Amino acid sequence: MIKISNLSKSFGKLEVLKNINLSVDEKEVVVLIGASGSGKSTLLRCLNFLEVAERGDIIIDSEKTDLAKTNLNKVREKVGMVFQHFNLFPHKTVIENITEAPIFVRKETKEAASSKAIALLKKVGLEDKANYYPEQLSGGQKQRVAIARALAMEPKVMLFDEPTSALDPELVGEVLQVMKDLARDGMTMVIVTHEMGFAKEVADRVIMLADGNIIEEGHPNDIFVNPIHERTKRFLNQIL
Ligand code: ADP
Ligand code: MG
Repeated sequence: MIKISNLSKSFGKLEVLKNINLSVDEKEVVVLIGASGSGKSTLLRCLNFLEVAERGDIIIDSEKTDLAKTNLNKVREKVGMVFQHFNLFPHKTVIENITEAPIFVRKETKEAASSKAIALLKKVGLEDKANYYPEQLSGGQKQRVAIARALAMEPKVMLFDEPTSALDPELVGEVLQVMKDLARDGMTMVIVTHEMGFAKEVADRVIMLADGNIIEEGHPNDIFVNPIHERTKRFLNQIL
């Protein structure tokens, strides 16, 4: 579903991603871990073309993205993204947040987009909140709306960048549950998270980034129990 080859990205003199090679299979759930500043968000943002890498290829759903030729909106439709700080439109209701892109980007009718939005709100357990504004919701509810909004574009891949890091501890579980449901339904997912319990339960593969390199990867049962790399050991000791 995703194939990244020789991807490099710098900000000025700072080389943030160094020749990354990574493939993700259809329905695979990959968790990215690594210290702050190791390049996790940049890697996700490159996958969604919010950042443009200097070098390398990205193939999503068998289509290579040539930035000179490809319509980025079309690529972004395939890749849903959920951010740490939700990024909902504050002046729009929940249902307007969810239907905005389907109506204006995918040219769906308002009726079709709304009925899909209601179904998605049911899926994330918020069907009673359709006409609320984001400020009337808890952080966990906002994040579930953000997930529904991303799903409304019917993406092939979902990217999550620390989706529970901004939440009060008691709200983390409801968001992780929605993500578990998505994984069970066969969504291909790349998730940056420090929730190691979740990673153990849901991830098919855990990838450790350090200084813009993939230094270790493996099944959670291996990487959490017997990390090989010294930096992985240190990182896991700090967060577990
Ligand atoms: P992580 O998500 O693993 O914490 P990031 O991908 O956000 O790491 O950042 C990796 C490095 O790139 C950091 O040193 C960060 O300061 C730098 N960086 C990220 N985005 C930008 C940007 N837009 N401009 C300049 N430097 C950036
Ligand atoms: Mg980050």
